[in-house]
Amino acid sequence: MQATSHADTGEARQAAASLHRLSDSSLAVIPSSAVGTQGVEWAVARTPAGLRLLIVPAPGHEGVLEEFDGVRGERDGHGFLAGPLNARNAAALRGRLAWLVPRLLPPGTSAGFGDRLGLATPGHVGALRAVGGAIAPIFAQQSIREMTRTGRSPQAVIDDATWGTFEAGWTAGVGADADHLKAPADIDVCAAAGFSFFTIDPGAHVDEHADRATPAELQAAYDALPWAQLEDDAASLRARLAGKTLDIEGHRVHIDEGTLIKAAVKYGRAVAHVAAMFRHLCAAMKDRPFDLEVSVDETDTRTSHAEHVFVASELIRRGVRWVSLAPRFIGRFEKGVDYIGDTRAFEADVEVHAAIARRFGPYKISLHSGSDKFSIYEIAARHTRGLVHLKTAGTSYLEALRAVAQVSPDLFRAIYAFSRGRYDEDRASYHVSAALDRAPAPGTVTDEELGGLLDQFDVRQILHVTFGSVLTTRGSDGALLFADAIMSLLRSHPEVHAACLERHFIRHLSPFAHS
Ligand SMILES: [Zn+2]
Repeated sequence: MQATSHADTGEARQAAASLHRLSDSSLAVIPSSAVGTQGVEWAVARTPAGLRLLIVPAPGHEGVLEEFDGVRGERDGHGFLAGPLNARNAAALRGRLAWLVPRLLPPGTSAGFGDRLGLATPGHVGALRAVGGAIAPIFAQQSIREMTRTGRSPQAVIDDATWGTFEAGWTAGVGADADHLKAPADIDVCAAAGFSFFTIDPGAHVDEHADRATPAELQAAYDALPWAQLEDDAASLRARLAGKTLDIEGHRVHIDEGTLIKAAVKYGRAVAHVAAMFRHLCAAMKDRPFDLEVSVDETDTRTSHAEHVFVASELIRRGVRWVSLAPRFIGRFEKGVDYIGDTRAFEADVEVHAAIARRFGPYKISLHSGSDKFSIYEIAARHTRGLVHLKTAGTSYLEALRAVAQVSPDLFRAIYAFSRGRYDEDRASYHVSAALDRAPAPGTVTDEELGGLLDQFDVRQILHVTFGSVLTTRGSDGALLFADAIMSLLRSHPEVHAACLERHFIRHLSPFAHS
């Protein structure tokens, strides 16, 4: 994937010229989307009824229109089709424009942009283009948890990103991340939808008690490990790893007997779960290639360097192949806010994790809950030497709310008041520490100050974790309380939305674009 755009190619200019002859106030071609290939011109157009896929075949190429839903028309001797941005048309478009099909990421720097509303991709593309460099993007990225909370299907996540990628004219390639998969059934539905990148989260199989257990408790837990499931036995594991000291680019990682026992108790079942999920994934994808990420970030205790070595070497022994790994780093990666902790301690931590990833891979270090961690980006980019994946999700929703605050202060104020009421319940499954009493009461903030709320620590987290309730709660009349209003506001002010996202993501991507 090269960070280039078809807007620079002669073929696209030619396409734009022809499409623009069609364009008028009732059918306004979005210039970034216009592209010509295989005797057909393609674009997204704004119409009074919303966005439409516009297809203009050259004479002799009209057969392509059979693959698409839509209304046919003719203007100035050009036959065309104007179709809805629906699932059938998204699939047919991917069949024609190969760069829209999710594919493997190249080995360098990459970034995942979660998009809970399905409208953020043009803003994400704008930021990628602005920073230059070769950051490979994932626009379709959502965990099953987030899909459930937003009422979206894996296919809808893929399709929304397809439309955004097409509209923005991003032809340099995309991946698609089925994030935080926990069970085999999650894999099946995401593989069928066309995801290319699968994040396995074995967090439920990490024994966090190991960090507080006594040596006797650890020994008992070690003896009780499901050795058959691990395809291992206690003596073999000891022989492989106990007493070893690894020199990894000058960093000494010593694995004494106690360290090994604790690592095996803490992560042994997690490794077995990842191996089982990997095999399931291989079967589900058949001969389609895929990227695999292993994430243990959503645990309370940090992943020590020796434990990282244990996980990596045991995954290799089990035949798992992966492209990135998200350890649980020192300090706190809370949702929507900067790194909490000593950045020098983070530096010392990530330096060795990155070295281990080079030794046992090379694979990327993945920064989960990676949004808004401005104080550590340069450190992470430098120590990983660009072999890094930055994963963000909810921060784009916050930028959508910033656009809402700019366009409709009353709507934003209502969402904020509602989110405050939901926070104590909705925060349960997230790493956040916001306190309601530190977040200003909605009635005390002027319209002009509303946007600034989105820069306040507690407000950010309160809004961040309540997205599911905001997007799916219905009023007594059965109508969605906020979701339709948010979506229609963003659809009618795409430039405001994209500008918020661009500004925010340029800050995220710049430290990685120049590493
Ligand atoms: Zn994560």
